[in-house]
Amino acid sequence: MLVGAMPLAAPRTRLRLMKASQFLVSTLKEAPADAEVASHKLMMRAGMIKRLGAGIYNYMPMGLRVIRKVEAIIREEMVRAGAIELLMPVVQPAELWQESGRFQAYGPELLRVKDRHDRDFIIQPTSEEVVTDIARQELRSYKQLPKNFFHIQTKFRDERRPRFGIMRGREFTMKDAYSFDRDKAAALKSYDTMYAAYCRIFDRFGLQYRAVAADTGAIGGDASHEFQVIADTGEDALVYCPSSDYAANIELAEALPLIARRGAPAQAMAKTPTPGKSTCADVATLLGLPLARTVKSLVLATDEIGESGDVLKTTVWLLLVRGDHDLNEIKAGKVEGLKSGFRFATGAEIESHFGCKPGYLGPIGLKLPVKIVADRTVANMSDFVCGANEIDFHFTGVNWGRDLPEPDLIEDIRNVVEGDPSPDGKGVLAIQRGIEVGHVFYLGTKYSEAMNANYLDETGKPRLMEMGCYGIGVTRILGAAIEQNNDARGIIWPAAIAPFAVVICPIGYDRSAEVKASADALYAELQSLGIDALLDDRGERPGAMFADWELIGVPQRVVISDRGLKEGQVELQGRREAEAASVARADVVARLR
Ligand code: ATP
Ligand code: MG
Ligand code: MG
Ligand code: MG
Repeated sequence: MLVGAMPLAAPRTRLRLMKASQFLVSTLKEAPADAEVASHKLMMRAGMIKRLGAGIYNYMPMGLRVIRKVEAIIREEMVRAGAIELLMPVVQPAELWQESGRFQAYGPELLRVKDRHDRDFIIQPTSEEVVTDIARQELRSYKQLPKNFFHIQTKFRDERRPRFGIMRGREFTMKDAYSFDRDKAAALKSYDTMYAAYCRIFDRFGLQYRAVAADTGAIGGDASHEFQVIADTGEDALVYCPSSDYAANIELAEALPLIARRGAPAQAMAKTPTPGKSTCADVATLLGLPLARTVKSLVLATDEIGESGDVLKTTVWLLLVRGDHDLNEIKAGKVEGLKSGFRFATGAEIESHFGCKPGYLGPIGLKLPVKIVADRTVANMSDFVCGANEIDFHFTGVNWGRDLPEPDLIEDIRNVVEGDPSPDGKGVLAIQRGIEVGHVFYLGTKYSEAMNANYLDETGKPRLMEMGCYGIGVTRILGAAIEQNNDARGIIWPAAIAPFAVVICPIGYDRSAEVKASADALYAELQSLGIDALLDDRGERPGAMFADWELIGVPQRVVISDRGLKEGQVELQGRREAEAASVARADVVARLR
């Protein structure tokens, strides 16, 4: 290598005009039929993403620009909060996952693959094992703690029901961070630091969100919060108190008794649920496991998947369990209070009973109130077969949705919870829907214990590291932002994450030398100020050109025409504004800063 020939300073990238003709602008008049929610429809129409398979998308150039901006904000705030970036592999050897027990315990969402030597690998859904392996090798002494490692990396989860475009994809991008501390107090401090960083991140995105207490599952304790973007199309329901700080995901146990109390049927029903009449609560009663404070439900759901990857039919099997239990404990018969004779149906049984296609079967444990599971899983469907996984215990013709006033689950829960006293005694409860965009979680020693991740304290004694994990759904943010910000014309990106901050729309770029000169000069000025602009030189009719940028959701548009320039004016229009304003050409840059 010619070391001497290398320039001392990094080469300057030459200013290059970002012209629409040299970029890829690919908009559609119609959204595909399977797009249910606004964000999915609009992202497809705006050419931001392109479907490759069920839950698997190409991030097209326009969409990728947004993703990169989201990542940049996250990265900046993570580093500000003291986290250190690294990058862990997408494909991970199974050994570490066997060590933690997750290779077996993780359900069918975990994609397991084999290499040519028949060795097991997984495609990472998160990276606790790998990061714990790094920590146990690198962090030997208390002097090296605390540490927080993060990466922004591709994840794969074989979601039972991928939908809403990249909001619930199978392949998606997540920022995941992992903290390592000396003791619980220090770990909770790291947790608080991440919580505060998340607030800054979501503030900077310009989104309306709420941090809610979430279920800590097997870990216990109260340090788990989800960051939920408020949106009616969200899959989560949030219970909050408008006059205090109380906010919880409805999954959280505290919300359960409220639902159980009012949701339970007044009396037991007949032995066989009646088509169109029986409800989840009826089935619960029939199974002899009344809903109560400590009762959580477990649902087995099987989907029949069509060739295109779409769900043709969903079958829900309901099993009610007292307390919080691991799927494997239940399977192993270790859970008390289960009606005897309950067991999980084998894949083959389910297959032969329901005629499902093989390859997409398996139990999925969800710790959710029954009603919500029913709604989420089988909205708008009826005539279900459900049961206790015992051949003679099936119930046919169950209409899960009947007592849930469709189409909105919220309405139902509103009736159940809204107006009840808040658990903190500071007011009454209200409900809204949310999209989980982030999750902070105190892990304790779950992984460090399983994987023997120790450090030496001041006295030279080995101690287990205390951990926390912190995720943000990078690609899901795009969908959530659009759910909150759109209108009949398209997307309205918050300025911080828009693919371009400004689009310059010259009318007659290749006909008029004045228009061209003015547009090029404006572009150069914006560029030199670090304002992300794009110049539309495609020669589209003004109507079509404007429609494209409104659909794509660029926050500011400048229209430059001969007519305006004669008066020294250009037209400036914010994406939310109904009309354009005439602005002196000389002032427009100042207006865009
Ligand atoms: P969900 O309840 O929506 O399935 P999760 O609780 O399983 O999400 P976490 O394990 O907490 O997800 O992962 C951290 C973040 O990753 C989530 O808060 C979410 O923003 C994002 N995420 C999880 N699953 C997906 C997915 N299938 N597609 C896109 N983003 C996802
Ligand atoms: Mg999930
Ligand atoms: Mg969740
Ligand atoms: Mg979560």
